[in-house]
Amino acid sequence: MAVREILRYPNRTLSKKCAEVTAINGNTAGMLNSMVDTMYAANGIGLAAPQIGELCRAIVVDTDTEDRGKKLVKLINPVLVEAEGKFTWEEGCLSVVNYTAEVTRPQKILVRAWTIEHREIEFEAEDLQAICIQHEIDHLDGVLFIDRISRLKREMYRKRLKKMAREAQAVAASRAPAI
Ligand code: ZN
Repeated sequence: MAVREILRYPNRTLSKKCAEVTAINGNTAGMLNSMVDTMYAANGIGLAAPQIGELCRAIVVDTDTEDRGKKLVKLINPVLVEAEGKFTWEEGCLSVVNYTAEVTRPQKILVRAWTIEHREIEFEAEDLQAICIQHEIDHLDGVLFIDRISRLKREMYRKRLKKMAREAQAVAASRAPAI
């Protein structure tokens, strides 16, 4: 198990565009396995490389929380080839604490990507799996789901985050030993 720390908004790494993976090798395999371990440890259904501080285009998705591994996909340089329909889902993100919001995205997608076995694949995904893959590909472009909601909602979330940080500071200060 190699569980890594997950970067949280507003960490600037999360808003950077990631570079393509140019060589698929043992390092790539190790990173993908760490991403899977980190995703499972956090009880998530998807994780993108920049969330653990790796600025490269790789994602892992497993939307089946009951039977872990069954629907697991590890994608290198994933690209959205086609998208159709509309699907609204209450999204959350391991990098955005204590917040969810409805986001509408295409319901069915065709994705092209590379696998760790150096195979270029194309596959279709729909509903939650499609939403999740699109959410993770967004991460590779430095986009979070809160960038896809209204500015007002985003501002409210920012205010709430600041309040949470102030409260945490106050608690820490009250625990400080007196001298
Ligand atoms: Zn996310």
